[in-house]
Amino acid sequence: MELTGANSSRASRISSRIGVLGGTFDPVHNGHIGIATAVFNVLELTSVLFVPADRPWMKELSTGPGVSSIDHRMAMVDLAIRDREGFELSTVDADRGRPSYSVDTISDLREVFGHASELFLILGADALEELPRWRDPERLVSMCTLVCVGRPGSGLPEGLPINHPGRKAQFVSGPMLPVSATEIRARESEGLPIDGFVNNSVAAYIEENGLYQ
Ligand code: ATP
Repeated sequence: MELTGANSSRASRISSRIGVLGGTFDPVHNGHIGIATAVFNVLELTSVLFVPADRPWMKELSTGPGVSSIDHRMAMVDLAIRDREGFELSTVDADRGRPSYSVDTISDLREVFGHASELFLILGADALEELPRWRDPERLVSMCTLVCVGRPGSGLPEGLPINHPGRKAQFVSGPMLPVSATEIRARESEGLPIDGFVNNSVAAYIEENGLYQ
């Protein structure tokens, strides 16, 4: 199909549509893969970057048990996505060496990919609700398109207050999997099976390395 007018000039300027899924990924699980797959397909993205946070700022504030090393978390993401075309591991946060804020992630990726690429920041609905508490949310939303994906227990972007920075996020319903890394860590520490929560190679990695005991 040939495009004309404003659409054709925009199409020629935008060379790729890149999804960005940041997270702690401790561990990466089927909920992450499910939302990345849904957004990749629905928005016809070129790729989805999985960006493990080196030192997630929200978890630095918590008093619970520490987060697994960035090496373990990156290794698990690599295992989970290596056979999935279009999914890539990004070390942009791991390389920075200070607490990870999404505004820095998107700003750094914007430098790497330039303005010929469109960036789509993928957030579960729970994360979107938290956006006002993040660093510089207005600047963040000015640099990318927010995509909110449904998560059991969390609402839709239209349900957010009128002045919420994430209110105009695009919404993709996604697979609505009731899975969280918190539950997987708890199950593993209790010796319960985690099949169906993470892929087999991630489950094997968790066992081999004695994570979450
Ligand atoms: P934890 O339980 O340790 O807080 P988590 O399962 O929420 O972890 P994160 O790595 O913190 O996983 O999440 C990264 C991103 O993926 C966030 O935007 C989060 O909202 C989203 N996400 C995680 N699990 C799901 C899910 N089951 N459905 C939709 N979005 C999800």
